[in-house]
Order: sequence, then structure tokens, then C-alpha cells
Amino acid sequence: MTAPFYLPAGDEVDLFRAAYDQRIPVLLKGPTGCGKTRFVEYMAWEIAKQRTGTPPDEPLVTITCHDDLTAADLVGRYLLSAEGTTWLDGPLTRAARTGAICYLDEVVEARKDTTVVLHSLTDHRRTLPLERLGTTVAAHPDFLLVVSYNPGYQVTSKDLKPSTRQRFLAIEFGYPDPELEAEIIAHEAGVPADVAEALAALGARIRNLDAADLLDGPSTRLLVHAGALIGRGVAPRRACDLALVLATSDDRDVQDAVRQVAHAVF
Ligand code: ADP
Repeated sequence: MTAPFYLPAGDEVDLFRAAYDQRIPVLLKGPTGCGKTRFVEYMAWEIAKQRTGTPPDEPLVTITCHDDLTAADLVGRYLLSAEGTTWLDGPLTRAARTGAICYLDEVVEARKDTTVVLHSLTDHRRTLPLERLGTTVAAHPDFLLVVSYNPGYQVTSKDLKPSTRQRFLAIEFGYPDPELEAEIIAHEAGVPADVAEALAALGARIRNLDAADLLDGPSTRLLVHAGALIGRGVAPRRACDLALVLATSDDRDVQDAVRQVAHAVF
């Protein structure tokens, strides 16, 4: 298997490595679609490759958080079967036992009473109590917890509790510089360099629009989508309409402003 494609924007690879070496949990902060998930996939792959002994089958366990996520969804539960009840580890327990990196994407979406189960795993104890089983799992020495969140998007009622947040070392992510973003688009969408460069320049211009009450973006992900459509023969203006104009805002004025910039480029 080859490494996931990830182009570093700064020193994030070294910082993550340093955090991992000390087993300090990591918080990835940044807007949606700017490469946080791809970064963790890359780091998990790199770390698993350098391990001595057998790497876990699943070096990265990803959990997408939402407001119905319960502690049992993370930790595990008893399941009823014809043979009686059997315990099934949740993804967090599985990662802690096998020494995987566990990535909780959009952690603030989870309820606070759910994220509390992370506490004993993210301090010196490195343990996970399984109350239903009456036992405690000691995390594998290679285990690390990584969470992501998008600061622009949050309402304060959904912010992380300080007692949760202050367990993590934070690495900040932003949209890549146009040169780097063009390289990413060319690789991911499989389009020629000139198309990728035009899309990256367009992305930077839209992000700087005054009129745009855009919460975020357009993200690198959306620019890749626009490139993928262009690569499949969709006319560039149409591709930008679908991937950038309609996807970034529902407000007609904002859509017009974004469309104008797109038409200036393509
Ligand atoms: P996030 O987790 O921040 O929402 P993702 O990691 O899913 O965003 O990134 C969205 C897409 O953008 C990825 O699937 C990948 O195609 C591309 N991408 C963004 N940044 C990078 C990067 N630095 N290197 C490689 N691909 C990237």
C-alpha cells in the first residue's frame, strides 16, 4: 500500500511527530475541507510504517462525531444474540487496545457527557474505564487520541469544555497557499497544471471577497471537486457553478459575487 498523498503546508508533520513521541493528544483546528483528515491519515500511515513489531490491522480509527453519539457508541456495548449477550468493543476501545490512532472528527458535535469518557485516556492515566464490564482498559503504548474542530463554525454553546480542551496540543490548519493548493488540485483531480493554478487562484480570490458572508471556504475539497468536473469534460464555468457557487452559499447576492469572480477567471 502506498502512503496517502499529503502535501505539508508548514511544520505540522514534525509537530505531530513530536507530540506523538510524547503521546500528547492532538487537536487539529481549522476550516472544513482544508486537509485535516488527510493529514491524520498520512501521519497514521507514517507512524505505523516505522513501528517495530506487528502494526495494527487498522492504524487509524476514525469516528465522525454528531449530537446523538453516546459514550456507548465510543466505548462499546452488550449485544443480544441467540447465544446470550456478548460484549462488542466500540471504536475508541478498539483503538486503545490495539495501539491505533483514534481520530474524532468534529469533536464539538458530540455531547459533553460523551466527550468526558476521553478524559482518563488523555492524561497520565491513559486508561479507559468500561463501566458496563466493570473493568478498565490500559491504553496500548502506541495509542494516541486526535480530535478536530472548526473554530469558525462553532456556537459557544457547543464549544469544548476547558477541562476537555486543555488536554490537547493544538495544531492550526488553514487553506494552503495558492502554489501548494494548485499542486494538491492537480494531483487529486488529475487536471493539468494550468487548470489547477486557475482554480487555486480563484479559490484565493473568493476567500478574499468582501461581499462573501461565507462561513468558510471555498475549501480545498471544493476546488478539487471543480477540477474533477473539468477533468471529466464539464465546461469550467458550469463546473464552478456546481462545485463553488451553489455549494458555498444559499444567498443569491453572495452567489452572484462568487460567480462573477469565477467568470473573471474562466
Ligand atoms: P478536513 O478534514 O479538513 O475537512 P480533508 O482532509 O478531508 O479536510 O481534505 C479535503 C480534501 O482536500 C482531501 O480529500 C484532499 O483531496 C484535499 N487536501 C487538502 N489539503 C491537502 C493536502 N495538504 N495534501 C493533500 N490533499 C489535500
